[in-house]
Amino acid sequence: MDMDEFDFENRIMSSEYSGEDTEVEPSLRPRSLEEYTGQEKAKEVLKIYIEAAKKRGDTLDHVLLYGPPGLGKTTLAAIIANELGVNIRVTSGPAIEKQGDLAALLSNLAEGDVLFIDEIHRLSRQVEEILYPALEDFSLDIIIGKGPAARSIRLPLSRFTLIGATTRAGQLTTPLRDRFGVLLRLELYTPEELCTIVKRSAGILNIPIDEDGALEIASRSRGTPRIANRLLKRVRDFAQVRGDGVITLELAREALAVLEIDELGLDNTDRKMLEAIINFYDGGPVGLETLAATVGEEAITLEDVYEPYLMQIGFLSRTPRGRCVTRSAYEHLGIPYKKKDPLEGGSQIPLE
Ligand code: ADP
Repeated sequence: MDMDEFDFENRIMSSEYSGEDTEVEPSLRPRSLEEYTGQEKAKEVLKIYIEAAKKRGDTLDHVLLYGPPGLGKTTLAAIIANELGVNIRVTSGPAIEKQGDLAALLSNLAEGDVLFIDEIHRLSRQVEEILYPALEDFSLDIIIGKGPAARSIRLPLSRFTLIGATTRAGQLTTPLRDRFGVLLRLELYTPEELCTIVKRSAGILNIPIDEDGALEIASRSRGTPRIANRLLKRVRDFAQVRGDGVITLELAREALAVLEIDELGLDNTDRKMLEAIINFYDGGPVGLETLAATVGEEAITLEDVYEPYLMQIGFLSRTPRGRCVTRSAYEHLGIPYKKKDPLEGGSQIPLE
């Protein structure tokens, strides 16, 4: 197989933020918990904490949001600030290079403000150290001078709420994770929830769409609102050129077939990744790093962006020895399933 065929860069179905989202994503972001579809468990918990903080006239406890990209972590952080009636400052782990960068951000926060740090697992250790006293005692420990003359001074900060977002809570250091009072895991959305989101977005963007058309797009969006919104725009373009502008079931199906997105929302890349495991590694197990090298992608991207959905639909399983493709994936791809003989390791026997 020609590995150059993998087009990871321009993948429509990637849940990661890309340039094409900048144009509409801000206008599609819900602004209140009321407008935020799904994630009922997280919303329920947040409502209580927000209400309690407001009643006490206190700041909200620090919140950690985790889950795959495109599920609404950034959106939810902005909503929390909005519901609290405070300002939000947005930054990300990789953007904070030096201790001084974070110190400046922290000292500019006003009482009650929210500081949102996306990809918080990518903060450097040194920067993280500044964060501990800030989170715990709302103070900054600063070292002045060098060598024997160096001394530490403690500066008070305004009380604030940190909202951290990460695709992987497991990669956070324990001391950092322990300083969050509220840990919320965001889940993949159901097709029904995504259908509500698609209809809402279509309303904002003035795209005519019927119920079945919306549900079709929703069911092929890998449980991810960002993908649902992106597919909606692609299908809209198609509707304007090929149809009368209205997104119906037939039109959605036709457009998604042209985009080579199948009924389950898998695109060429998913299929090629699964086929690579089947063809090169007998369906697995294959180690994540080896698989990443085979498909020319970083292991971390495979793990965060591709695998959650393939595992959710039961096409891929993680075993201690590596990734395995399941029988349902073989069936979906139309490849005859061969069961491995556990006693013979790699060799295969046909399954009746
Ligand atoms: P993340 O920070 O987890 O990568 P974002 O918050 O940037 O995800 O969400 C991506 C897009 O998906 C946003 O533009 C927003 O419009 C949409 N979105 C996410 N969650 C929801 C939701 N619960 N309801 C409606 N739209 C949502």
